[in-house]
Amino acid sequence: MPSNKCYYAPTAVLPSGWAEHVLITVDPAGWISDVQLGQKLDTAIVLNGVVLPGMSNVHSHAFQRAMAGMLERATGEKDSFWTWREGMYRFLEKLTPEDQEAIAAQLYVEMLKAGFTSVGEFHYLHHQANGKPYSDRSVASRHIINAAKIAGISITHLPVLYAFSGFGDKPPLATQKRFINNAEEILGMITALSDAYKDDKQVAIGLGLHSLRAVSLEMLQQSVQGMQKSHPHAPIHIHIAEQLQEINDCLAWSGERPVEWLFRHAQVDKHWCLVHATHMTEKEIRLLAQSGAVAGLCPTTEANLGDGLFNLPDYVREGGCFAIGSDSHISVSMIEELRLLEYGQRLLRQERNVLKFAEQPSVGAALYNMALKGGAQSLGRATGEIAIGKRADFIVLDSETPTLLGKKEDSIFDALIFAGNVNPIRHVIAGGKHVVKDFHHHDEEKIFTAYRETMKKKLL
Ligand SMILES: [Zn+2]
Repeated sequence: MPSNKCYYAPTAVLPSGWAEHVLITVDPAGWISDVQLGQKLDTAIVLNGVVLPGMSNVHSHAFQRAMAGMLERATGEKDSFWTWREGMYRFLEKLTPEDQEAIAAQLYVEMLKAGFTSVGEFHYLHHQANGKPYSDRSVASRHIINAAKIAGISITHLPVLYAFSGFGDKPPLATQKRFINNAEEILGMITALSDAYKDDKQVAIGLGLHSLRAVSLEMLQQSVQGMQKSHPHAPIHIHIAEQLQEINDCLAWSGERPVEWLFRHAQVDKHWCLVHATHMTEKEIRLLAQSGAVAGLCPTTEANLGDGLFNLPDYVREGGCFAIGSDSHISVSMIEELRLLEYGQRLLRQERNVLKFAEQPSVGAALYNMALKGGAQSLGRATGEIAIGKRADFIVLDSETPTLLGKKEDSIFDALIFAGNVNPIRHVIAGGKHVVKDFHHHDEEKIFTAYRETMKKKLL
């Protein structure tokens, strides 16, 4: 019979703040059943190092990990998000659901080693190369979910509704044929997947809307209402306002900008995550911040694609919450995402310590804790805190990391995010399983071998 496990953390971050001598009990299903302060028990598993809640990675297109670094060569006078997208479409042409699984499993191992214990997979590569659906419409989704099961990361899988190539219901391009569904079809996939994984706490299903470019008003309303009817608390994610051209096209089509258009046509609330809300007016910043929805920020991808900078200080001042994602996976590091989020603002404003609060002067602690909270909320998961009833998702920092030596309490967050270039995450416990031990994922050789075979077959 599986029994409870007890972990002893000499130092840990609890919802009440920093604590010493923490005993964390985890039940066989992977949930935290008790948290106590007390001396180490003989039976406890000792976590030698600072213990923090694991981070959520709220925006992922797993297959793009395999093309990271391939599109860094100039193709013409001025490369952009749109020229990158053409390269990305060429890359995905040959990928099968099995390839998607091999790539996602490798990526999810890398995510776990980087301290991400949950992922939001925004999945739109649904159909065969000729555009025909597979006989099981959600087969690619099942392979991606299987990758998460193999690696041991919690997944919120978001089948994405994608129907058009531009505002005003423009027909899809030939290169988009593998993405296309209508609202009924996407809801059918969501129902099939929700039924298949209803007893699996590692898996949650939400709805993805690709963007206002890719769905009509009717489809948006039909899919959101259908989702809310069957799963009222399920997450809804959408790409919004990433590129200036997108803003201008939306203005030309509707007279409104994407965020203001969305708020006029949908009840955006705490179940929503607006990914890349990069270009917003003051009014849009207020709308998003006050709605309780989460801004899904992907700083390394947004930098790589030349998107622009999210106005973090004004958004946070209005009470907005945010989460981070590694999106195209040009980098897989929560440290780098959080660091760049702050550094972008420092460079822009020629100031230091931009994300600051009167009650929280530590920029590192503010970044980490806000991303934890927004991440759990936007993935619809009970995670992000070491507390009873939450998923046992936590990371252990290596006590021998030079940049962490001598640091106490919130200074640990500051050193973790701003100092050093070596991954200091020694252990990762995800859903109660010790998936990364001494920097090593328990199945990384096998997963890497499958990934290497896929890369040879497709690209080399
Ligand atoms: Zn995206």
